[in-house]
Amino acid sequence: MEKNAETYGEWYLDIVEKAGLSDKRYPIKGMNVWTPYGWKIMRFVDSFLREELDGTDHDEVCFPLLIPETEFKKEKDHIKGFDSEVYWVTHAGLDELDVRLVVRPTSETAMYPMFSLWVRSHQDLPLKIYQIVNTFRYETKQTRPFIRVREIHFFESHTCHDSEEDAQRQIEEDLEIVKRLMGRLCLPYFLLKRTDWDKFPGAHYTVGIDTVMPNHKTLQLGSVHHYRTNFSVPYDITYEDENGEHKYVHQTTYGMSERTLGALISVHGDEKGLCLPPSVAPFEIVIIPILGKNQAVDVAKAAKDLTNDLKKAGFRVKLDDRDDRPGSKYYDWEIKGVPLRLELGARDIENKVVTYARRDTGEKGTIPMDSLVDGINGVFDSITKNLSEKAWKFQMDSVTELSSVDDIPKDTEDTKLRIYRFGWCGSPECGHRFEDDNDIKILGTPYLHEEYNGKCIVCGKETDTPAYAARTM
Ligand code: ZN
Repeated sequence: MEKNAETYGEWYLDIVEKAGLSDKRYPIKGMNVWTPYGWKIMRFVDSFLREELDGTDHDEVCFPLLIPETEFKKEKDHIKGFDSEVYWVTHAGLDELDVRLVVRPTSETAMYPMFSLWVRSHQDLPLKIYQIVNTFRYETKQTRPFIRVREIHFFESHTCHDSEEDAQRQIEEDLEIVKRLMGRLCLPYFLLKRTDWDKFPGAHYTVGIDTVMPNHKTLQLGSVHHYRTNFSVPYDITYEDENGEHKYVHQTTYGMSERTLGALISVHGDEKGLCLPPSVAPFEIVIIPILGKNQAVDVAKAAKDLTNDLKKAGFRVKLDDRDDRPGSKYYDWEIKGVPLRLELGARDIENKVVTYARRDTGEKGTIPMDSLVDGINGVFDSITKNLSEKAWKFQMDSVTELSSVDDIPKDTEDTKLRIYRFGWCGSPECGHRFEDDNDIKILGTPYLHEEYNGKCIVCGKETDTPAYAARTM
């Protein structure tokens, strides 16, 4: 099926199904089963996060799933933001619980009562921890695998600092991690400081990490939040400074979810199926022996040897020696998005080469046997670069400079929507009016400076700040 703005919704579900990424037949809506292929890809993303977080002196922890209602309700904005979407445990066996328990929607309210015990003096700071766990949110909108689910595979880091400045340094570190991670996934993104009415419940400010889907809607892949002391006050997380004075810590969080997999599928996939960057491909290479009749050389054995050699060299390789036509095998592995296909026939063996086909461009060629590892690595670098450039180009081409709200197509033309960049004076009045009149969401203002000179699209006041708006997934 062709992938474009019109077909995207259907195309996505088709790919998830055909590539074997998850099984939707589990009898709870929005809670699919992670099947091996999808789970393997997710584990690569998780491993990159672990590598990054461990490398920046965070410690991995694992908190309980259940949170007492008494702790959950301590920060009033936070609870307002989550009240309507949490699952409750109300009974234990046959007994009704005295204190009801929340199934974590996110872990601030699980962690912070403990932080108040863990943090004592300035020497305990900064406290930097993270966990990769499942969180639960009762989604009422239509669910979609990896993109809108009720049980969410979730990464969250939480930090405490002795000052607002040190917490701000943490935000910068988080955004460097985002940059490296997204680079490895070949995914483009915007870093946008959310509007005050759209920030995380309880946050001082929120930076959203958004990417553009094939239908020109944006998908929030994650976010970074500066809390200042908004949580440390109600949760009483204090430290004693050098002068023996008790002060509240400043806090940050950084979270990302299985939506990264939803983005990998959506952004890189095409009419043939999934198209994975080598970094996250469960199999980077599939080897297809091309068997003929009465061959002088043992192609099957040579293919096995080649598989073993490449495994020894550190590649993730699948030998497809099923009794089936090569064309049918190509088709199967294209759906699964394997970045590189190697074909090995009698003539290749004679010529001391392997024939390759790239999943991303379809380009074919040969690599000499005596420089196979370098040759493959070269092709992988080229695939990574191509996927990344193509995705960034799509994202940037999706952005339309808007000088008048009349240029936004009305809702009958949903698929013609773009990401809009326009001047905004920053006032909530103008922001709300823009959103309400056009049924579109302001994603925020660029976190990193962007040159801009223009007028607020609503009130006409001069402004040097652009805002971005889009429909969201
Ligand atoms: Zn204005």
